[in-house]
Amino acid sequence: MIGCIEAGGTKFICGCVDEQLNIHHRVSIPTTSPEETMALVLDYFKDKEVTAIGIASFGPLDLNCESKTFGYLTTTPKPYWAWTDIVGPLKQLKNVPIMIDTDVNAAALAEAKVGAAQGCDHVVYFTVGTGLGGGVLIHNQLVHGLMHPEFGHIGVKHHPKDDFKGACIYHHDCLEGMASGFAMEKRWGVKGHTLPHDHIAWEIEAYYLAQACVNALMVVSPQKIVFGGGVMHQEHLLPKVREHFKVLVNNYVVSDSLKDLDQYIVPAGCKDDAGLLGAYFLTQ
Ligand code: ZN
Repeated sequence: MIGCIEAGGTKFICGCVDEQLNIHHRVSIPTTSPEETMALVLDYFKDKEVTAIGIASFGPLDLNCESKTFGYLTTTPKPYWAWTDIVGPLKQLKNVPIMIDTDVNAAALAEAKVGAAQGCDHVVYFTVGTGLGGGVLIHNQLVHGLMHPEFGHIGVKHHPKDDFKGACIYHHDCLEGMASGFAMEKRWGVKGHTLPHDHIAWEIEAYYLAQACVNALMVVSPQKIVFGGGVMHQEHLLPKVREHFKVLVNNYVVSDSLKDLDQYIVPAGCKDDAGLLGAYFLTQ
């Protein structure tokens, strides 16, 4: 049994995953203060027999195992959570291998293994929820370099009808600043899911997400682009993203895979299990 943690900005989901990928003892712990939340996570694992622990976490994370702050959340804007040690307390509790990566990198891996990108070894995974991020799998390896990709913070062109200044505290109008669920709420004054399907909010949202896909295509050349996260529960959104994507690419990149965009830009296959399954595959 592998101990798995999906560490999110709203909740930490813990579970134990067996070799057949069955998830046992799933619990959801609210993300409050690091002390409170981590204490409940440790309490959960105290009596669990696990041979390894995988952690799929929000970020940014220090993933350099030579670093003194390896396994820490670093510059997250989430109040109280900057420079929180995620791996250390678990390592003290359980003397087992512990693997950590970003939630989106882990989800990219899960999608390639058992989700919507099976058979692909070059995958980009975007999550569009309260935050917005992207994970990258190349040659079946998750991308780490200096740290890990930060796809949410790339620059985007403003939609001509969008005068919103952006919601990212670091960059204002980066992709996350313009297109996260938080940005939508700030721009429109209501939660995105309450806006009708024909509201211009969705055209604007699709325009930004399409730019994310174009950038992914041009930089990483993925075989599939997968979307997850709460905002993507709006099923009318992905077709709009594909339409904008087609216009923006403008036939510059030619590939059989781009002929049917329904098969190229796809919804996540692992649904709500992507985090825990991603955490599991980090340990394999
Ligand atoms: Zn930003």
